Amino acid sequence: LPACIRQVVRRHHNCTVKRKYLSDMYFSPAKSSQKEEYSCKSHRLLLDNDIIYPCHNGAYYLLPFGQRVLEKLTRVIDNELQAIGGQKISMPTMAPAKLWKKTERWNTPELFKLKDRAEVNYCLGPTHEELVTDYVRQLRPLSYKRLPLMLYQITRKFRDEMAPKYGLLRGREFEMKDMYTFDATEENARVTYEIVCNAYDNIFKRLNLPVVKVAGATGNIGGKLSHEYHLVADIGQDQLLICEKCDFGLNKELVGAGGDEFGRHCHLKEMNGIEVGHAFLLGTKYSEVLDACFVDKDGNTQVTQMGCFGLGVTRIIQASVEVLSVDDNIRWPEVISPYQVCIIPQKEGYMADTFFSMANDLYDNLDSLPNLHDEILLDDRTQLTVGKRIKKANEMGLPYIVVVGRKALEEIPLYEVIETSEKRTFFASAEQVLKHM
Ligand code: ATP
Ligand code: MG
Ligand code: MG
Ligand code: MG
Repeated sequence: LPACIRQVVRRHHNCTVKRKYLSDMYFSPAKSSQKEEYSCKSHRLLLDNDIIYPCHNGAYYLLPFGQRVLEKLTRVIDNELQAIGGQKISMPTMAPAKLWKKTERWNTPELFKLKDRAEVNYCLGPTHEELVTDYVRQLRPLSYKRLPLMLYQITRKFRDEMAPKYGLLRGREFEMKDMYTFDATEENARVTYEIVCNAYDNIFKRLNLPVVKVAGATGNIGGKLSHEYHLVADIGQDQLLICEKCDFGLNKELVGAGGDEFGRHCHLKEMNGIEVGHAFLLGTKYSEVLDACFVDKDGNTQVTQMGCFGLGVTRIIQASVEVLSVDDNIRWPEVISPYQVCIIPQKEGYMADTFFSMANDLYDNLDSLPNLHDEILLDDRTQLTVGKRIKKANEMGLPYIVVVGRKALEEIPLYEVIETSEKRTFFASAEQVLKHM
């Protein structure tokens, strides 16, 4: 049967649903027309596997796999931040120059600036301290009872980077999670800071990523206390000093600025890091100028104490591929893998239709498991050998591959299950496959 007829729609909770076939998911133009050179391993793996496609300097299309990874990562982040009381919002991308002038950041070289038809100036938000603080100003009277206030968003950010590099690692347009917290006292703000850092630890634990947390530079955002989360990698653009014996570490930018004082007794080793997250205790730097106040228990108006917390969402996607991939195969943090299972029916030829319909049945059975719903992919390119398709699924880093081959014709049909990350292969009945997943 031709593929279009094989991919019958099926019923699921009274809706018609199309099965996900791999041949529908190739969107990249021919490789020969690719506009960009590979700059590092993860950049090559994302381009070669149709996760991203270059658009212009530092800007990328996220193709269907890439968009799924982004949405899964977003869910993990939402989950942990809402567990600590974070409220998700969405702020305008265009920010009025007026506010950026008030905080004296209008001359930041990385700002993309634009004017409307009435010649009013705006910038495309590289971060949102100005907008969020101006909003909180308008919440008055804001009672101390409502603090800490934790507002966050996951949106596109724009920075005219001096040297966009390494694909998603340093884009000029990228996805960032930014959270802003408002407290009554510095003491409370420090507690909130620890709570958010703890949520960051949980996020990276769920992703199984070996991050290091170091004392960070406060840069042009400014502030009193700062930590950065890094993934150690040769191509990392930050130099870190990490103690080999304890968990002390710092960004080398801090050396000489007083930040290295208590690291004096440590056995510091230098390594490169990719900055994937950043936490700042801001104090009143923004709330003072932009007048974000609260009313304390005696009825007095006071300035709020702020914190801000960034996660480089698209940067995390590529950085995890950079540090986890093995033998030129992508390895995703399992929870953000674009799909969990890839089913591969026998190559076209003898009994091809039988193999294909068994693969469809297995697809439907696995898809009906709550944890695997919409997580199954069927590699319908039966003109290719099973071996070639296994190689592709392995390269894309899908955690499980199930081959519907010759043994599926036995009295009790057996399927070959490959756990790509464990490099383990075994044969199992449909029932065992379902139980294993
Ligand atoms: P870097 O030192 O790499 O330039 P930054 O310190 O300027 O980053 P922050 O202002 O702390 O970045 O932004 C919060 C997070 O956003 C960073 O920790 C990083 O993960 C991410 N990020 C920053 N710039 C980019 C970029 N150009 N492309 C992708 N992600 C970025
Ligand atoms: Mg920067
Ligand atoms: Mg930095
Ligand atoms: Mg930073």
